[in-house]
Formats: sequence, structure tokens, C-alpha cells
Amino acid sequence: MTDCLKFEIVPGMAAMIVGWTWGIAPAMAQKPPLNWGDRLENPAIPKLDCTSVTPSSYYGHLPYTEAPRDELVSVGNGERLRQSAAASFRRMQAAAAEVGIELVPLSGFRDRAVQNSLFYDVAAQRGQSLSERARTSAPPGYSEHHTGYAIDIGDGYDPGGDLNQSFAYTDAGRWLFANAGKYGFELSFPSGVTCVSYEPWHWRWVGDPDSEQTFQTARDLYRDHRIGQLDEGNFK
Ligand SMILES: [Zn+2]
Repeated sequence: MTDCLKFEIVPGMAAMIVGWTWGIAPAMAQKPPLNWGDRLENPAIPKLDCTSVTPSSYYGHLPYTEAPRDELVSVGNGERLRQSAAASFRRMQAAAAEVGIELVPLSGFRDRAVQNSLFYDVAAQRGQSLSERARTSAPPGYSEHHTGYAIDIGDGYDPGGDLNQSFAYTDAGRWLFANAGKYGFELSFPSGVTCVSYEPWHWRWVGDPDSEQTFQTARDLYRDHRIGQLDEGNFK
């Protein structure tokens, strides 16, 4: 009886994990999550224009409001997340540590002033147009980091991969792709899907109703692309 029960539960859990992470190795990504089909053809979901600024997006970035300051707590390394996300991050960090992997918080909550500098000042330093800059950074008011639910994660034993696409191949990156979903984190900018370049280090937490609601538009927009990406097995 116990064995039968186990057998029934495990596939469901696997599907849920795939749904959370939607960026894991294709061999593991057999099925989409169970409840996304009703949104695929919903005309109320806007399509993003990656090439212009519109009332609803800035070169494909969606607007986000800043987290209430009193909800922010430390996750170490000088970074903060909302309490709910921070608790999950710490659990995830502890689980990784058990197998010898150090997940380092590189950037959690950021306010508009910090994002303003990251976007405009860096664009000026690099001689980038704002549309070019928007491929790799969000303008102020449009960063998931404003929400206190998003975090850039590095590998403590392999800092050369910090904020670099090679992070996907570090031990921490590989572990996150396989396990982050168990802790409510999902990859925000998978390869070749969104208007933003591939960011294997940037994870958003969608582990409670408020965070799910916060990212609902983004999740709806790319829900169908997740299926395609997984089916094509082209995740790098
Ligand atoms: Zn980020």
C-alpha cells in the first residue's frame, strides 16, 4: 500500500518541479505543469514588443513596484529579499551546502535609484543605446529586483561565473536548474525566449500568492514558450 502511494505521488511532484524550474535538462523535463493550458490562448494576455517602449513595457521589460521596506530581511552578503522569499532561499542554500555547493547572493532587492544608475550610467559608460542596454538590464521601475522576490545567485567556489552565462555550467548553476523549483524559484530569463538575454543566475520566487501575482504577466507571457523550449530540448 505504501509503495503504491509513493508511486502515485512521485510523477505529480516531478511535474510540479518541472513547472517551477522550466529550465532544467530536457531529459528531465518530460511534462509541463498541470494547470497552464487554460492560459495559452488567452487574448487578454498582451504580447510584448521587444523593440520599442510601449505603455505596458520598456523594450520588453514589465513594470514592477518596490517591495515594502519593512518586509525586507538579509540573506547575507549585504543582500535582502522579502521575508517569505528569504526563508525559501535560506532553505535552498542549506540544501545546496549539504552537497558541498555554496549559493552566494549577488544581488537581491534593488530600489529605483540603484537601478537608475545600473541602467543609464552603465549605458553611458559603455556607449550603449537604451535599447541595447535593455537587452541585459532593466530600466528603473522595470526590474524584478524591485519586488524583493528576485535574486542573482553565484557559485562561491567558482566566482568566475558570476553574472555570466557560464554560471549555468558551474556546480551551483547545475544544482539550481535541478533543484530551485523545490524551493519556489524559477528562472526569469531563459535562453532565447524573453526580450532579455539569457540570465541563468537570475531567479525569481513564486512561492506564495503575492509573488505569483507579482509575476503573473511574465509567467503568462512565456508560458507557451516554456513548453516549446522544453519540447525542443534547446535549453543550454
Ligand atoms: Zn538579476
